Parts: sequence; structure tokens; C-alpha cells
Amino acid sequence: MGPRRARSHVGNHLTPPMRVLVIGSGLAGINAALLASEFAAVTLISKSPLQQTNTQRAQGGIAAAITALDDPQIHARDTIRAGDGLCDPEAVRTLTTDGPAAIERLLQLGVDFDRDGQGQLALATEGAHSTARVLHAGGDQTGLHIQSALVDRLSEADVDVHTELAVTDLAIEAGRCVGVVTDQRETILADAVVLATGGAGALYQTTTNPANATGDGVALAFRAGAVVRDVEFVQFHPTALASDGNAFLISEALRGDGAVLLDAAGDRFMTRAHPDAELAPRSVVARAITETMRRDGTEHVMLDISHRDAAYLRQRFPGVYRGALERGHDITAGPIPIAPAAHYHMGGVYTDIDGRTTVRGLYAAGECASTGAHGANRVASNSLLEAAVFSTRVVTAIQRDDRPAPPPGEVRSLRSYPSGSAPSWQTLRRAMNELVGITRTAGDLRTALDRFDEWREPDDLPAEPSLPLATLTARLIAEAALQRTETRGAHLRLDFPDADCAWQRHSLWQMAVE
Ligand SMILES: Cc1cc2nc3c(=O)[nH]c(=O)nc-3n(C[C@H](O)[C@H](O)[C@H](O)COP(=O)(O)OP(=O)(O)OC[C@H]3O[C@@H](n4cnc5c(N)ncnc54)[C@H](O)[C@@H]3O)c2cc1C
Repeated sequence: MGPRRARSHVGNHLTPPMRVLVIGSGLAGINAALLASEFAAVTLISKSPLQQTNTQRAQGGIAAAITALDDPQIHARDTIRAGDGLCDPEAVRTLTTDGPAAIERLLQLGVDFDRDGQGQLALATEGAHSTARVLHAGGDQTGLHIQSALVDRLSEADVDVHTELAVTDLAIEAGRCVGVVTDQRETILADAVVLATGGAGALYQTTTNPANATGDGVALAFRAGAVVRDVEFVQFHPTALASDGNAFLISEALRGDGAVLLDAAGDRFMTRAHPDAELAPRSVVARAITETMRRDGTEHVMLDISHRDAAYLRQRFPGVYRGALERGHDITAGPIPIAPAAHYHMGGVYTDIDGRTTVRGLYAAGECASTGAHGANRVASNSLLEAAVFSTRVVTAIQRDDRPAPPPGEVRSLRSYPSGSAPSWQTLRRAMNELVGITRTAGDLRTALDRFDEWREPDDLPAEPSLPLATLTARLIAEAALQRTETRGAHLRLDFPDADCAWQRHSLWQMAVE
């Protein structure tokens, strides 16, 4: 990598600009890079092409209380209700209060959100939101529109961009993050490093995430001594088109628009499971589907929206309509088979409401962070908002000072940790699906941990640079899932089927750095 062009600062030509390094090219990463480029020399690294992100796949939309009929406080109340006792009220308040400004920024960046007949921003309803507050673009192609606008702005900005370069370690000196190490064995120094590495769905065999969503940020931060939080909470999206491997998401917005879930006998089982029926929180819907599949001995249940007008469905859900059709199912013609798939990581690198981790110089934003805004169960369309809101706040924090966040409570500290790597992605993903999946037991989780213990550290730089990081994140998820002896939000323990008030607390993990 060549040296950056030095930039002169008004009034002080001798001070070199601050160096900010951003890892990730989704909404959190690009937004942070664009904002930081206004005062710093910015490098952005992504291990994939810029567009290969969870952001690009988002369908339903982004939630914010932007009308006179809505209020950030009501948005906060809905979010906390779904978070099953683990939302951090300050983080939720920050998310929903900063929400309208985040939408304004996305509009300024050129995101063309859909509008109604009067030219007002069109708003949809989704599960757990008590009112219509979900903005969308291109019907159900919100992520594609956001990602494209961001990539366009990035191409115009003074940011040093490196794609298909993976970060394999953080460089730590005297407890401070001073840069990163890449799979090219190169160290890139920086004054501030922002983790925006996205989710961990691709640790599982069946997932809606792209293959690069392997939870690297959690492992990188953990190895650097940062606190990670609530990593056991992995959300399984209730409605992915039933298939093995990469699962095509059928947006929650279809249920917001009247789609119903049917069991093998053609009966609507969600009306018995929850007062909000198909619009209950995701964990409730995913659990009811899993139980119904188990009861009926099927690999899927059916989702039906074919009672709505076919032309309307094609126009409102063009992405889902085409995607399902390509896979042999017509949403306008009848019910389609769906099953839950790994979708979103609520846990992650602990940050305060300004994106600071517990390691000086290291920040995190977006899905890889645990701000506490989602609690044990994320509400639909709150994650794009979280990525937009907190990536903005991270940059303000970097500009202000370099304080780390104090640990938020009692941390489980580990002096050493196995550094083995799964022999292949397939082995890791199968183990996660079978043993650390939507329903969990102590026996399965112990089997998973024993298996992970057998995996040895690669002798040399592995051909798959993210595999050791992914293995560590998988291990942390299994370990934390074993410790949490209750069922809460997206964490479903068959051997502890109820919530336990003693467990209404975050789980915090840290590796002591020698
Ligand atoms: C199918 C689908 C639909 C969704 N729909 C919605 C929705 O409608 N509304 C909503 O709010 N949310 C939705 N989500 C969730 C939402 O899209 C994500 O939570 C959000 O986009 C995450 O953004 P991010 O910037 O944190 O990460 P991402 O957009 O995932 O970007 C992560 C980046 O990090 C890079 N990276 C990772 N590891 C490394 C490494 N070691 N070195 C270098 N680079 C690395 C990746 O290459 C990538 O560029 C959806 C997710 C999926 C998968």
C-alpha cells in the first residue's frame, strides 16, 4: 500500500492529519469513513468487493420516528418491549432520538427512499413496531439503494480504499490499538481504528448473510483485550425460503402487508402463539415455526400472501417476487415454503453510546458492535438505523478525545484461550447449525466446545485468513450460550425453557492481554 497524500489543515500546516482506519464497507464503515474524511486521513479496508455486505442485502427498510404521528419515545418503547429485558435504555434512546437525523443524512447522501402519491416518504409497518415507521427504497431493495449511494459517495471522497484485503489482527501497543495487521502480513498504523465488520450469520450453514459475514470483528476485538458482550444472542430470521446453504430472505414486510403462516394442515398457528400473531417479535415467530416444524415432522412451514393483488405484490416486493420466482416459487400464486435461518448478531464488541470499546483507540459500529440497543432480540429495521446512528457518533467521539469506555459491569476474564482453527468452513458451519443453532441444550453446546478444542492452530498463515477468527467467534457464542441457563429473546435453551430473572443481565467476556 502506498503512502497517503498528506492533507494540510487550516491554520496548522505542520501537524500531520489524524489517521483513521475503518474496517468494513457496509453502512457503518462507509458512513464513518466519509465523515472522518472531513478532518482525517482515512483508510477503508474490506475483505470483499465493496458491495458484498449485509447492508446490500437489506430488504424491508430502516425504522425511524419521522412523522408528527410518531415519536422517538414510542419507537424506544417498542424496541425495549421486543428486547426481552436486555436493552440498554440509554442506547435505545440514543438510537431512536438520533434516528430522524440519520435518515436526513442518508437522504443527503443520495438514498432515494420510496415516496407516496403526495411525495411524502412512504412508511411501512413491520413486526413489533406499533406504527408505520419503516422507510424503504426500490420497494424491498432498501439495502441495495443505500449501499449504491454510499459507494458512489465513497468514490468521490478522499478515502484510501483497499478491497479484498482481510484484517487478521489488531496491532496493540501498551494497551492501545495502533493499527491492524492484514492477510498480506502488512501492518497499517492508525490513530483510531473503527471495526465495522458486520455480522456473523455465515458461521452457520443456513443463513441469509453473505459468506463474508463471519464475525471477525468480535474475535479481533476479543484477542486485543476488548470486552465483548451478549455474543450468545444470534437472531434467526423466521422467514427464509426453505433451502440448504445460502437462504433467500422473505422480508418481514410481507407479514406487515398481511402474509400469514400456515402449518402442514393449512392452519394459521401464529394466532395461537402470540397476540400480535405473524407480527410478534422475531424470536417468538422463529420459535413457533421451529416448534410447528418439529410437531408436523416437516422441514418448513408455509407463508401465504397470495390473497393480495398480484400486480401490487410485484410492485411492492419486486426483489422478493423475482428472487422467489428464480428459486421456483411464485408469491402471487400461493403459499411458499419457509424456515428460519441465521440472520443477525445482537451481541458483539461492547461499546458505549459513542462507539468506544474498552480498548483505547479502538471503536466499533454497526452489526459487529453491541451498543445494547437491541437487547436479546432485534426489532426489524432497527439495525440499519443502528449502523447509521452509531457510525456517525463514533466519528464525533474520535474527533473529541481517545478515551476508552469503562467496562460496563462484571466481566468474565480469561487469561488464555484456545486458538485452534476449524479445518474447513463446512465443518465449522455444520457444527454451528447442529449444535449452537436456534434451539440449544447443555449437551449440544458442550459437544460443540469439545469439538472446537480438538481443532489445532494452523502452522502457517491459513489459506482462509478469516477461518481462525470465525472459529474463535463461534467458540465464544457456544461458551456464552452454555453459561446462559435460561431462555431469553433469541437464545432458546430447551433444557431451560423459561426466562430467569437472575439472568436479566448482560454477559461480558474479555481475554486478559499479557
Ligand atoms: C438478507 C438481509 C436482510 C436484511 N434486512 C434488513 C432490513 O430490512 N432492515 C434492517 O435494519 N436490517 C436488515 N438487515 C441487517 C442489516 O442489513 C445489517 O445489520 C447491517 O447492514 C450491517 O451493516 P454493517 O455496516 O455493520 O455491516 P456490513 O454491511 O455487513 O459490512 C461488513 C463489512 O465488513 C467487511 N469485513 C468483515 N470482516 C473483515 C475483515 N476481517 N477484514 C476486512 N473487512 C472485513 C466485509 O467485507 C463488509 O465490507 C438485513 C440483513 C440481511 C442479511
